[in-house]
Amino acid sequence: DMTEPTVNYASSSLGDDALEAAFEEALRAIRAERPAPQPLVIGGEELHTGDVIVREDPCHAGVVIGAAHVATTEDVTRAVAAAKTAAGPWRRTPYAERVAMLRAAREDIAQEIAYLSAVVSAETGKTRLEAVGEATEVLDMIAHYCDLMIENDGYCAPLKPSGGDTNFDVMVPYGAFAVISPFNFPVALSIGMMVAALVTGNTVVLKPSDKTPRSTAEIAAILRRHLPAGVLNVLNGGAGVGQALAKSDVDGIAFTGSAHVGWELVATRSPSGLPRPVLAEMGGQNPAIVAASADLEAAAQGIVRSAFGLSGQKCSACRRVVVDRRVADDLIDALVRETEKLVVGDPLDRDSNLGPVIDDSIAARIDEAIATAQQDGRVVTGGRIDRPGNFFAPIIVTDLPLGHRLTREELFAPFLAVTAVDDFDAALAEANAVDYGLSAGVFTGEQAEIDRFLDEIQAGVIYVNRAAGATTGAWPGVQSFCGWKLSGSTGKGGLGLWYLPGFMKEQSRTFAG
Ligand code: GLU
Repeated sequence: DMTEPTVNYASSSLGDDALEAAFEEALRAIRAERPAPQPLVIGGEELHTGDVIVREDPCHAGVVIGAAHVATTEDVTRAVAAAKTAAGPWRRTPYAERVAMLRAAREDIAQEIAYLSAVVSAETGKTRLEAVGEATEVLDMIAHYCDLMIENDGYCAPLKPSGGDTNFDVMVPYGAFAVISPFNFPVALSIGMMVAALVTGNTVVLKPSDKTPRSTAEIAAILRRHLPAGVLNVLNGGAGVGQALAKSDVDGIAFTGSAHVGWELVATRSPSGLPRPVLAEMGGQNPAIVAASADLEAAAQGIVRSAFGLSGQKCSACRRVVVDRRVADDLIDALVRETEKLVVGDPLDRDSNLGPVIDDSIAARIDEAIATAQQDGRVVTGGRIDRPGNFFAPIIVTDLPLGHRLTREELFAPFLAVTAVDDFDAALAEANAVDYGLSAGVFTGEQAEIDRFLDEIQAGVIYVNRAAGATTGAWPGVQSFCGWKLSGSTGKGGLGLWYLPGFMKEQSRTFAG
């Protein structure tokens, strides 16, 4: 019973009055109360260290939304030990029982959509549509990974018999997995990695982003109610806790976040010196190519949704448009018209399409990028909005020199660079001229150009002529979310068909006849 994805960021309505009201009531209550700091969870025990981090409302400085007790290095060691102790019994639990527990947790989560969306919205600033979309994705993520486990019979398959022997290919969990999750989808992306690890028979030590200590902890708490003690442990804190976890003897790491941190994790050796999987899904500098024959209205819609949905704070966000010079001015006009339809504001306001960016540090980087673009190119529209909180109107820049760093590095922000090129060859070359390779889109009326795009674009998640989202909107079981080049470490994406096997090692079993 999977739902259809919600991708229409041009609308702000949930289309359901009861849900609107429940969301608003929950959001108001969350902003009004002082939150209890989230505990550490080690082996089923909730612990308070007294060293507490707090998160403030990105819409209203000074309003505390989330808080959590930070782990010490010893807590990290103990949490990993607890996960390793629980790993044997969990591995031996039949996969159908693991699936049943996770599906039961999903039922509980489904009862809490309005509340969980409000927590996510309060902590990240995302709009009600984006927050409810994320909470809904959680349900589909759990359903999808559970279904895959069942459909593949726990990833055990008979091989050809030989002589009198019977032979099997069996996938075995690695043991204890570290799950290090990001702020931008604090419930969906943490759930995706946790459920993939758990359903395949691994135990988990979760480290949520310290920008969203509450949302991720609350969704993990619902999961925990359905799991044996020690199967899901939670450590709170910042980069130091993540590094300590990476240096511990966890049997694998699943990570979503920046390339900088991801490659550091890939390079970190386990204490044993033996290899272990690091499943890292990282950033992007995602292009949309617009050819001379493109439907420019569709292109502008798809690009604006992809560039500015969630205020550009998606790995998959469209960050660059590479457009045929002959239609560049018309496209830029259409893009500006689309951005003018977007209302930037507090998620509590029903008409908001975009919320603030997550914190002051990214806001300062956006200010700096705007200043650079004014100097080296042209800012067509957008910029900081003069009100408290880190609100930006969608920023579109053009005329940056080819290869400018603002078209090569990832700025996790509502910032779109438009580059005009002579022809489709030049467009493909420019689209591929980055180290990243997450998502990409093309808009063209020519089949030959579609074929060339499919053959030559260096990205794992690609979209053809999609007004609903030029580079974004991947949904469980609908797309697979695979980073190429600097965007991913394994060549297998979440959401799709080949993710779960990354959490297991293969064993061939031969029984003499
Ligand atoms: N699933 C989201 C999308 O395709 C992006 C997830 C992410 O930013 O990591 O839009």
